[in-house]
Amino acid sequence: MTDLVKLSAAHMAKGLQSGEFSARELTDAHLSRIEAVEGQLNAFVTVTGEDARATADAVDEARAKGESLAPLAGVPVAVKDVVVTKGIQTTAGSKILEGWIPPYDATLVENLRDAKLPILGKTNMDEFAMGSSTETSAYGNTHNPWDLERIPGGSGGGSSAAIAGFEAPLAIGTDTGGSIRQPAAVTGTVGVKPTYGSVSRYGLIAMASSLDQAGPCTRTVEDAALLHEVIGGYDPKDSTSLKDGFGNFVEAARAKDVKGMRIGVIEELEGEGFDPLVKQRFEESLALLEKAGAEIVRVSCPNFKYALGAYYLIMPSEASSNLAKFDGMRFGMRVVPEDHPTAEKVMAATRGQGFGAEVKRRILLGTYALSSGYYDAYYGSAQKVRTLVQRDFAAAFEKCDVLASPTAPTVAFRLGENTDNPLKMYLNDIATIPANLAGVPGLSLPSGLAEDSMPAGFQFLAPAMADDRLYRAGGALEALLEDTWGGPLLNNAPALEGGAK
Ligand code: GLN
Repeated sequence: MTDLVKLSAAHMAKGLQSGEFSARELTDAHLSRIEAVEGQLNAFVTVTGEDARATADAVDEARAKGESLAPLAGVPVAVKDVVVTKGIQTTAGSKILEGWIPPYDATLVENLRDAKLPILGKTNMDEFAMGSSTETSAYGNTHNPWDLERIPGGSGGGSSAAIAGFEAPLAIGTDTGGSIRQPAAVTGTVGVKPTYGSVSRYGLIAMASSLDQAGPCTRTVEDAALLHEVIGGYDPKDSTSLKDGFGNFVEAARAKDVKGMRIGVIEELEGEGFDPLVKQRFEESLALLEKAGAEIVRVSCPNFKYALGAYYLIMPSEASSNLAKFDGMRFGMRVVPEDHPTAEKVMAATRGQGFGAEVKRRILLGTYALSSGYYDAYYGSAQKVRTLVQRDFAAAFEKCDVLASPTAPTVAFRLGENTDNPLKMYLNDIATIPANLAGVPGLSLPSGLAEDSMPAGFQFLAPAMADDRLYRAGGALEALLEDTWGGPLLNNAPALEGGAK
């Protein structure tokens, strides 16, 4: 059964429909795989085998009765632990939420349940999604399946490691500054940050509400499109939810045609700080696209150089406010000091012990940036930069249909390498952050092996509500690259001890 886990989600769906295997067999194969390799990867905070099996059995029963099912019914999925799940512990990677059992499902989880995707569990992540390596999790490090000594990216390292390690064919991530795309890049997988507002945020534990967006983590572009169609759509419970702009993603992913497409290379995201082989893989991918009939143009986005600075003012400002609700009164952990506890002392002790160092750093930064006297200089200036970044995108998209850059400047670094250097850690998101500031969608797919034979990512960006362009361009590039590799890049990943690569 282990070979089942190597199929793409699209193939799994076909096998289920033709009766080649049952949903129960498929779910069991993944649970066995999880059991075999979790000791090495630690991609999950919680595994929900019983829940997954119950859904799988329901799918098999429905199919036996001839009931009509959604295309992905029976294909298992893992969910980042920042998305609330009814009756299943949801920690957001933080000690402060240990043991918290949400009383409701996020809308996107309802969508997964309606479409009958067995939920395998909740994946590990940086605490409250703050980080690029999953090292700030209170639940241990997640390891990169390509090299267990290296980070799987972050904050959604658990979701991407589970995908790359064949523990799950589909996973949900969230991307506030790159947390779907950067982990995808460094694990040789695919990740999509949809247009802001196109996947409901209802039930995401908010980090920075104006930037957060949930999306798919998969091994193929087509699988991402399939999952995106399940989780996307209008939701009256999210006030920023979009009413339209949902194209046919699956059809676009299957088109594999870039003839006449204008692809704009962002000059500011090619040079300094990008590793030589990461750049080389990027240039080679561009050459393939050009040969396939795309037109490559150079565009300049001069304000992108201020994006990282603006992000580290806007994100902590919103996070400091969003995280105020974790006060020891309502959710998860409560620390009661022994001497005359007052509400204030309980809050201080709970937050002092419950939050990790990175979360505290950002609460402090955000509170400072919002404080009276500094508000205009910091938060106000950052919002102005945000507008300039949006204008850069608008001008660039007049000259091209999609934009392109390497997803991250480096391959996965070693565990512990950057933990004492927040700036270096923050710089990993230099190419992903502009999309969040502007609300535009982005997709990362593997571009090949770069430094230390580790995977690198290629990023496409599209105008808001034109996510279908990402799938068209991504599906085409993936096919071109796989031709040169003789199959998926993950076929080259070193085998984990649990067997099947
Ligand atoms: N790595 C970025 C940060 O630490 C992005 C996080 C995210 O997208 N959730 O803020």
